[in-house]
Amino acid sequence: MLNFDLHTHSTASDGALTPTELMHQAVQAGVQVIALTDHDTTGGITNARHTADQLGLTLIPGVEISATWRDCTLHVVGLQIATDHPTLQQGLARLANARTERAHRISAQLNAAGLAGDWYTTAQQFGQSIGRPHFARALVAAGHAATVPEAFKQFLKPGKPGYVAGTWSPLAEVVHWIQAAGGQAVLAHPARYRLKQRRLRQLLDTFVDVGGTGIEVIAGNHQAEEVRMLARLAHEYSLLASVGSDYHGPGLSYRSLGTLPSLPTGCIPIWRQWSLPTANTTAHASA
Ligand code: AMP
Ligand code: MN
Ligand code: MN
Ligand code: MN
Repeated sequence: MLNFDLHTHSTASDGALTPTELMHQAVQAGVQVIALTDHDTTGGITNARHTADQLGLTLIPGVEISATWRDCTLHVVGLQIATDHPTLQQGLARLANARTERAHRISAQLNAAGLAGDWYTTAQQFGQSIGRPHFARALVAAGHAATVPEAFKQFLKPGKPGYVAGTWSPLAEVVHWIQAAGGQAVLAHPARYRLKQRRLRQLLDTFVDVGGTGIEVIAGNHQAEEVRMLARLAHEYSLLASVGSDYHGPGLSYRSLGTLPSLPTGCIPIWRQWSLPTANTTAHASA
């Protein structure tokens, strides 16, 4: 059985490691198949590809796209995408503009709340595809909060002075971009939205309807009971099952690389039709 991690971040979005560093860390941690899934961008894939090829690591081109469903923000992971597909890139370009505008507003709101600083410029230093995590780290660096979660709690969550809602695209559109690019759309970390069972089922109905093909059954933050619940739902909705840590770098993540549990028996893995190296001939870093 190969060691899969199909949800990770780099400095192309809010991860702390460059795509190259991430590939090296993954190999060291025993990961054999990795997807780089930065928020709303494929900007890290070229460098990741270069390093992964050198290391004999199997890289799956991916993305994690922010989407709106009803009043919720959801994340949809696209796997095996053709990164240069125009429909996908036009969609991502719109989100990039939305992120830039939002970041300027976050910066202005922090100033209006009495935190003087060029927060936009400082936040930009923490990676591309700027979002709240970049501001959280800027606020920590400036001593306004002790940790990133603290910065979110005090400044960046809904109701707090630096909160600006994202203007993402509707779920159906986002799934369409991924499909257009030949990818598989996977609902990221379903247990993190804290939806009641009934709403989660409504979401899965819609997700399947619009062309979604999988859900993350194993995610960095999922508890054993949530994994069992999601495995049952995957089966019920004929969704494939994915596995991803949501790694953001040392000290920024739910768990370290290479330590994910395997899928419960009965799940059909998202990779069932991928062409992959076989477990015993795979992924040795060549000198
Ligand atoms: P954004 O897309 O800019 O709204 O930022 C969302 C990202 O912020 C998520 O993907 C997480 O990486 C991170 N995040 C959200 N909430 C928290 C939190 N409470 N503590 C730390 N990171 C968080
Ligand atoms: Mn993130
Ligand atoms: Mn996410
Ligand atoms: Mn993520």
